[in-house]
Amino acid sequence: MEQKPRPAHCLVLPYTMQGHINPMHQFSKSLVSKGVKVTLVTTKFMFKSFQQLSGSMPVEAISDGFDDGGYVSAAQESYFSKFKEVGSESLGKLIEKLNAAGSPVDCIIYDGVMRWVLDVAKSFGLVAAVFFTQACAVDNIYYHVKQGLLEVPVKKRVSVPGLPVLEPLDMPSFVRDPSSFAGSLDIFVNQFSDISEVDWVFCNTFYELEEEVIQWMSKQLRVRAIGPTIPRKYLTNQKTPEDDTDTGLQIFKPNIESCMNWLNEQQDHSVVYVSFGSLAELDAGQMLELACGIKESNKQFLWVVRASEEGKLPKGFVEETSTRGMVVQWCSQMDVLAHKALGCFATHCGWNSTLEALCLGVPMVAIPIWTDQGTNAKFIADVWKAGVKVDVDENGVFKREMVQQCIREVMDGEKGKEIRATSRRWMEMAREAVKEGGSSDMSIGEFVGSFTRHSE
Ligand code: UDP
Repeated sequence: MEQKPRPAHCLVLPYTMQGHINPMHQFSKSLVSKGVKVTLVTTKFMFKSFQQLSGSMPVEAISDGFDDGGYVSAAQESYFSKFKEVGSESLGKLIEKLNAAGSPVDCIIYDGVMRWVLDVAKSFGLVAAVFFTQACAVDNIYYHVKQGLLEVPVKKRVSVPGLPVLEPLDMPSFVRDPSSFAGSLDIFVNQFSDISEVDWVFCNTFYELEEEVIQWMSKQLRVRAIGPTIPRKYLTNQKTPEDDTDTGLQIFKPNIESCMNWLNEQQDHSVVYVSFGSLAELDAGQMLELACGIKESNKQFLWVVRASEEGKLPKGFVEETSTRGMVVQWCSQMDVLAHKALGCFATHCGWNSTLEALCLGVPMVAIPIWTDQGTNAKFIADVWKAGVKVDVDENGVFKREMVQQCIREVMDGEKGKEIRATSRRWMEMAREAVKEGGSSDMSIGEFVGSFTRHSE
């Protein structure tokens, strides 16, 4: 009797940051739904949290050299080089273990910032796929730097194929100022080292959103847009019981009930949601301008201020604004964005937050702080027309008047109505992309098909 081919087995290795874990976890779920066996691989320190949150998906651990979590105090560059050294060996052992246990590995999908995984995959003769967690536009900029086609630091207006003309402030901050946050530019640029050896390049975006740049990148590399990778329940009506409880893998504990109860009491489209993601650290001056801008807009607001940032809130702010605002340490952002009380999202323009707002049709007030956020903000305001942008200078300085003005423009003005209508069109397109037969669904299907044959 002919034997049924075993399901292909992919290892998926996200870098352990919130904005990297969620998209790769959701992408893994899409693969599972198409019959692939996926094992998530994380660090020993993060293993337990992953196990608790990954549902039925198996999780394995490798060492990053800081099994007790000591990486928090390590400088970024030394952490990355330690992870490469210890992680390469540890991952090799894991592959050998899985192969010996009758669950041989066919493919590794790795986070672009962990470039060393490519060498391990190739040393075992495996299919290697890189997953870029940033916008394809941003990937293209780093690709140009790697190819020597874009000189850093970028000090004047530039033209990059597939992109609109970009001012220095529209560039990722590390390209504008390579010395900032030592080692960061190298990490992003090195994602493209030996990229021709990578079998697949996955971008967490959808074709219709970044058509021009995807087309251009596809001529250089085997790029496929597979996003937006947000939990299915927010995008489609086809969901499993597991999807019902899926709010993404959360590193911080979300304050779900009190946020939702509070939102339920607010009028439709009346609330400004404010969040600067899992990493951005505002200085006291930025925090003051933001707080005053929010307060002076006179709108209802829900503001996420992480525990480590709380001490920077202006004295008395929480008490003074308690009748119309709520400050929480972390929320279930997708549930908040999906709530009918939401009017707009004042965001740092992290790529996940940007995609999440686009997918749920929520207009944005863009306040980019660093890394890729300036580029995302440029696209939000000028290309996708899904929001307005607050002027933020090269030192990260912005003014309360402009925060207030932008919030009002999006919430009250004529322009706000147009932005809301445009945002809803993006939402529809995102839903189409992930639907059966949609652009992202087809890309995922193509990948699964090719590599299933590979494993036979
Ligand atoms: N997020 C969340 N609750 C919060 C704030 C953020 O669940 O209170 C999630 C958000 O939905 C997104 C991620 O954290 O998926 C932040 O990723 P993003 O790329 O926007 O920003 P980063 O944290 O990488 O700067």
